[in-house]
Amino acid sequence: MSEQYDAIVVGGGPAGVLSAYTLATYGHSVALLDKKRHDQIGNKTCGDALDTSSVTMLHQALGLELPEGEEVSDVLDTMTIATEEGKLSLEAPGYTVDRHIYGQRLLRECENLGVKVIDSAPVRGVIIEEGFVRGVTYKKEGKDEDIRGKIVIDCSGTWGAVRRNLPDGFSEGLHKELPDNHIAASYREIIELNKEHEFLHEIYLYYDKEIPSPGYIWYFTKGSKRLNVGTGWLKSDTSVIKGSMKKIFKNALHKVYSPDEYKVLVSGGGQIPIRPPFDCLTFNGGMVVGDAGCLVDPTTAEGHGPALMGGYYAGLVASEALETGDVSREGLWGYNRLVIGHFGARHAMSYIFLKYLRKIGQKGIGTVIKRRFFSEEELTSIFLGKELELGVGAVIKKLLRIFPHWGIALTFKKMKEEVIQIRDHYMKYPHDPLELPKWRKERDQLLGEKL
Ligand SMILES: Cc1cc2nc3c(=O)[nH]c(=O)nc-3n(C[C@H](O)[C@H](O)[C@H](O)COP(=O)(O)OP(=O)(O)OC[C@H]3O[C@@H](n4cnc5c(N)ncnc54)[C@H](O)[C@@H]3O)c2cc1C
Repeated sequence: MSEQYDAIVVGGGPAGVLSAYTLATYGHSVALLDKKRHDQIGNKTCGDALDTSSVTMLHQALGLELPEGEEVSDVLDTMTIATEEGKLSLEAPGYTVDRHIYGQRLLRECENLGVKVIDSAPVRGVIIEEGFVRGVTYKKEGKDEDIRGKIVIDCSGTWGAVRRNLPDGFSEGLHKELPDNHIAASYREIIELNKEHEFLHEIYLYYDKEIPSPGYIWYFTKGSKRLNVGTGWLKSDTSVIKGSMKKIFKNALHKVYSPDEYKVLVSGGGQIPIRPPFDCLTFNGGMVVGDAGCLVDPTTAEGHGPALMGGYYAGLVASEALETGDVSREGLWGYNRLVIGHFGARHAMSYIFLKYLRKIGQKGIGTVIKRRFFSEEELTSIFLGKELELGVGAVIKKLLRIFPHWGIALTFKKMKEEVIQIRDHYMKYPHDPLELPKWRKERDQLLGEKL
């Protein structure tokens, strides 16, 4: 007989540790499997930026301590968007964290609550009985093993180790795989400079003409002499781009720092899902959380906070379902409502914003910034996913400022209309699972794309 737990969590990144931690807090038995060695869990190629809102909420809800000490590389107060034409700065409280140290602490907190961690254990398949996922199969020290749980939570990142092994059509709105236009490939380096940099307390996005639109190179502070620098673009663009990502990245970086001014401490690549969350994140016997459920902001690629919050929501709803004994797709529906309520509208609006940035390209973005087409307040609204309030006077001023590039103004007018429509639609995410197909059809019509 294989071991039996209340919940099996696949993946020990932020989504996995928060799912496990929340369930264990409510007294459930949890096994967490990760393909990495125990001491490597949490270590991830990332930009390392983390906004304060998610960790503050989790501190209030679960008493989890905020990132502190060595877990924090720098405390952030500003986000700057720049092109060669000029720059705009927004207020953006947060941290850059050491993913490895912070991730290891969260893992320890899970173990302190009794979560069983099975490391070096790549999950390869799912156990399905009577239409429900009842466990997973994995490799351990060369042997095939299996483990069972009343609920299986897929927190294994963009690849979706559980999700991709579900039968076709297992849960409407949850896809097994992502097309290349919904995945960004990325490359980043952590560099140490031989002098202090100018980005202290700041995350800085520079829209460079040589990076595929609307691509930017990011400079995220890791303390006075260290920077996390990287770039990325949609995988579907890769075929039309000349040169490797690393080469394009280095060319952009070397416009600011010459090779003899820094050394590379760590480098690596990664994949980021770029779309609004799946329309359904539950299935009979389980859920998907974090990157596995596409809980990443499509414009900013911010997924760490949403993964932590998603894990908390999954743990809460799974705990209730374990009490009532209904772990069906419909029984877990409350999780869909929490995630779509928190991130659905915001990430769908951001997805539209991204489409428009692609349309106007770096040149358009430069014009918008140089002519101050958006105020800092409006840009903050866009990045925070709020409606833009514009009176007639403000619109006329904008048109004058952007003269003779009025095409851009019209483009943004259309974007604003679409953003508001999609926000309102996501606010109406159905309570009743039977209404999901109709909701999806209407959403696809609004987006002009079948998601
Ligand atoms: C280059 C880059 C830059 C980024 N920058 C930022 C940023 O600055 N700010 C931000 O908020 N977000 C950023 N993100 C996104 C952020 O890293 C993710 O959204 C976040 O880590 C998602 O957490 P997760 O727990 O869902 O997945 P992950 O952190 O990917 O964790 C998944 C875990 O599952 C394990 N796993 C995978 N497959 C299996 C398997 N088959 N069996 C067992 N275990 C498995 C992995 O080992 C891993 O531990 C960036 C991403 C990349 C790639």
